[in-house]
Amino acid sequence: MEYFFNDDEKKLKQKAREIAENLVLPIRDEMDEKGEFPLELVKEMGRQGLLKIFIPEEYGGTGEKIMDMCIVCEEIARICAGAATAYAVGALGSGPIVHFATEEQKKKYLPKIATGELLCAFGLTEASAGSDVANIQTVARKEGDYYILNGVKQFISNASVSDVYTVLASTDKSRGARGISAFIVEKDMPGLSYGKEENKLGIRTSVTTELVFEDCKIPKENLMGKEGMGFIYTMRNFDRARPGVGAMALGIAQGAFESVLDFTYKHDLLNNQYIQRKVADMATEIEAARALIYAAARMIDSGTRGFSKESSFAKLYPSDIAMKVTTEAIEILGLYGVLKEYHIEKRLRDAKITQIYEGTSQIQRAVIAIELTREMGTREKDKEK
Ligand SMILES: Cc1cc2nc3c(=O)[nH]c(=O)nc-3n(C[C@H](O)[C@H](O)[C@H](O)COP(=O)(O)OP(=O)(O)OC[C@H]3O[C@@H](n4cnc5c(N)ncnc54)[C@H](O)[C@@H]3O)c2cc1C
Repeated sequence: MEYFFNDDEKKLKQKAREIAENLVLPIRDEMDEKGEFPLELVKEMGRQGLLKIFIPEEYGGTGEKIMDMCIVCEEIARICAGAATAYAVGALGSGPIVHFATEEQKKKYLPKIATGELLCAFGLTEASAGSDVANIQTVARKEGDYYILNGVKQFISNASVSDVYTVLASTDKSRGARGISAFIVEKDMPGLSYGKEENKLGIRTSVTTELVFEDCKIPKENLMGKEGMGFIYTMRNFDRARPGVGAMALGIAQGAFESVLDFTYKHDLLNNQYIQRKVADMATEIEAARALIYAAARMIDSGTRGFSKESSFAKLYPSDIAMKVTTEAIEILGLYGVLKEYHIEKRLRDAKITQIYEGTSQIQRAVIAIELTREMGTREKDKEK
């Protein structure tokens, strides 16, 4: 389908495809097998300008357009969603700095994040706080000119390879979600160490590690924005980031679908009615996912306020479609589908993760339902006027 990309978007798509095919493809299997982070690849993506797309122009970036992020995520994930995650975590980590940090903080960190000199990550999840963000147990105690952080973040993508972290901690436990604050933590700050590195089902190319804070001393200047605003910053950050996860799921589905087409054509299966129905449904659902992602991205980039529902649409549907397409692709390829060399089993493993991180599919449904309820309330109030 024609999505009327402008010239810059067309060039970006072409560049991302070349990077995916020339730089990601040759290392894909080894990185997935070993569960290794492709540091040199991410640095090269920085040198080629792909990290700039997370950052506004005034800080050395190219405008922080969600559409650009989706274009790149889809292309890289078409080859390897682990590499796409290793790349896109930069947006999740830098997003709160872009939108909620002070001018000094922005000037200090963003230009270096734009070039890839600094890699950044996002530390929210804990043993008892994944979906339930308000239940964060990590605490930040103010002592003179410092905050002292104590707690353990788990499942943090790119943790052990990043230089800067946006970290959520409670500054006032009695206030629940309204007592959560966000901090910019640098890797060398005393009291920060790395814990367990996870051995995962999928997205293995993006390392996932614990961040351990033991009396970690953070200068008070590294509080992001205002105390007690961390929960809101997190939700707004997710709203901007989720279409990127949807785009990764789309790339996974697209890659699997291309293998299915190739296989069924070569084996003369495309005139089989059962196969015809399967590939027609896959093609339609993939295109529907793409349209949903691009519509959400265009809406966010237009400057519209309030896009939680559309952002959740753009993660929920594509990640469910990625699971469906990869599962059915294995069925169609039969025994070849489970062989590593066809890369469908890898895509199935990667697809499952897109239904979990940055809010599970159940949480996306909850967000959509909350927004629908809110819209109904507004409509009823308007009627009463
Ligand atoms: C590969 C990977 C990378 C990750 N990277 C990061 C990262 O960089 N930074 C970070 O902070 N976190 C990261 N995470 C954590 C991720 O965001 C959480 O795993 C996710 O939010 C779910 O939280 P949980 O695992 O604690 O599950 P839980 O919250 O314990 O949920 C368990 C189950 O209960 C369901 N459930 C929970 N609450 C509700 C509800 N209210 N309504 C309906 N169903 C509900 C969930 O949908 C899920 O099925 C990563 C996770 C993975 C797998």
